[in-house]
Amino acid sequence: MPHTHEVTNQVPPHTGRDITAHPALFEALHREGAGWAEDEVRALGALGNSATVQEWGRLVNEHPPVLHTHDRYGFRVDEVEYLPQYHELMRTAVEHGLHGAPWADDRPGAHVARAAKVMAWGVSDAGHLCPISMTYAVVPALRTTPELSAQYEPLLTNRVYDFGLRAPLTKAGLIAGMSMTEKQGGSDVRANTTRAVPQSDGSYRLIGHKWFTSAPMSDLFLTLAQTESGLSCFLVPRILPDGTRNAFFLQRLKDKLGNKSNASSEVEYEEATGWLVGEEGRGVRTIIEMVNMTRLDCALMAAGGMRIGLANAIHHATYRRAFGARLLDQPAMINVLADLAVDSEAATTVVLRLAGAVDRSLHGDRSEAAFRRVALAVTKYWLCKRLASHTVEALECLGGNGYIEDSGMPRLYREAPLISIWEGSGNVAALDTLRAMVKEPETIEAFFAELELAAGTDPRYDDALAMLRKEFSDPEDLQYRARHVVERMAMLLQGSLLLRHGDPAVSDAFNASRLARDWGVAYGTLPRGLDTATILERAKVGE
Ligand SMILES: Cc1cc2nc3c(=O)[nH]c(=O)nc-3n(C[C@H](O)[C@H](O)[C@H](O)COP(=O)(O)OP(=O)(O)OC[C@H]3O[C@@H](n4cnc5c(N)ncnc54)[C@H](O)[C@@H]3O)c2cc1C
Repeated sequence: MPHTHEVTNQVPPHTGRDITAHPALFEALHREGAGWAEDEVRALGALGNSATVQEWGRLVNEHPPVLHTHDRYGFRVDEVEYLPQYHELMRTAVEHGLHGAPWADDRPGAHVARAAKVMAWGVSDAGHLCPISMTYAVVPALRTTPELSAQYEPLLTNRVYDFGLRAPLTKAGLIAGMSMTEKQGGSDVRANTTRAVPQSDGSYRLIGHKWFTSAPMSDLFLTLAQTESGLSCFLVPRILPDGTRNAFFLQRLKDKLGNKSNASSEVEYEEATGWLVGEEGRGVRTIIEMVNMTRLDCALMAAGGMRIGLANAIHHATYRRAFGARLLDQPAMINVLADLAVDSEAATTVVLRLAGAVDRSLHGDRSEAAFRRVALAVTKYWLCKRLASHTVEALECLGGNGYIEDSGMPRLYREAPLISIWEGSGNVAALDTLRAMVKEPETIEAFFAELELAAGTDPRYDDALAMLRKEFSDPEDLQYRARHVVERMAMLLQGSLLLRHGDPAVSDAFNASRLARDWGVAYGTLPRGLDTATILERAKVGE
């Protein structure tokens, strides 16, 4: 073979480093009461980016799960086959308590610790975090029905991954899913047509279909169906207590843009057995307990995704040279990376603040519960929306290499729009914020009380806060203006947290661009005079 060229100017791999570690993550972890978890968070981030686990992540996305509807004789089996590496990802996540474990942990900060661990471990693969998140989220909904939660909660919180279709109460650990969306609508679940008919033994028979049900090999599903009293929530196991299959038939798996490692199915319920969760006719109220928690996870995954994209971009710019200098030293690239870093740091700060609010509200803090109600909808809307453009820009920092699968960026890119669709797509999340404010006025008071804590520290922040108050004083066309108003709320919440707790360089850049609006539409449009060196220094991964 003739020697045609040497490989130069390619960046070294950074597998093996904890690329999710960022000062903002650990500062927030301590501030929100879970400093005790720092070692485990660091270990999980390093494990997630180890060569072995990165290979698991690659394999499970390149070889998605396969549905087997029938066996060789024509009998239905309704099983999904996953690679062994998928089970390893699930096992690791469960053993580290990323599923229901915090509900069995009374330590203050347990939910904050779990949130940081989800962000750190997310570098491995996003798909398996879907059932992990649903297993976390199902617990508060089940608690509306103490006899069910007494049976199932210990298994949903147990740190044992016990895969396979067996009667739930015979297993050492359980995984849960949710089955709400039908063909005719996902946002407006009241349009569901699946019916549930009461039986003499207290159970119900469910007849209908679901257009989306992810992780269909899970043990239990919270399922919405109509009764004579209206939309109600049911616990539907895959396997009945006597060990026989429930009438839960998998029609096909979705061929998705991304999120390949996670199976998402269409299901027919042909007189499937279920048990009522919460009050009959109050199904939305019951399942919203679950949705609130999965929304927190969407926001966590958005912040985690931003961090991974940014770490890859900075790593590349540190080693790649063009026109005689490192990319990292070139002013236009400095602006792009610093702009991305500001959003990443703001996102990390706000999601851990929300995890802290979840934790404190569970320990009885009512004002934190009110704050969480609005702040979660606002943050879910904004971070999930922002992730897609953040990821595109981070990918472009790697040039053509970023468009190639080996770089990992295409996987991140395909994943990015999904969390904005889940658990209340953009408009729905924005409108939900407004609904909460009208139905529970104490929530918006708690939100503004949080914003007031930073008042008087920076005139740019004060002006933005005054403008937001003006938006609220005008009730005209509020639905039409929903995204505009909620975006401003999200910015002010992040600005408030950065002013009080953030690094001054990051906070200054945030105020100048996001609040005083000396900023463009694309990333890389920060104004002059900012301390970008400090911002980038914080964002580096020990290069
Ligand atoms: C990969 C994947 C996995 C999924 N897994 C599950 C699962 O496990 N379980 C489950 O139940 N569902 C699941 N879903 C479904 C998901 O929750 C729904 O797709 C989502 O809730 C949106 O519902 P829809 O698709 O019916 O869109 P629609 O409800 O038809 O909404 C379409 C658009 O209209 C907007 N819109 C809706 N109402 C309004 C309004 N009043 N004003 C203005 N705009 C509005 C929405 O924001 C959205 O942009 C999954 C989806 C995907 C893609």
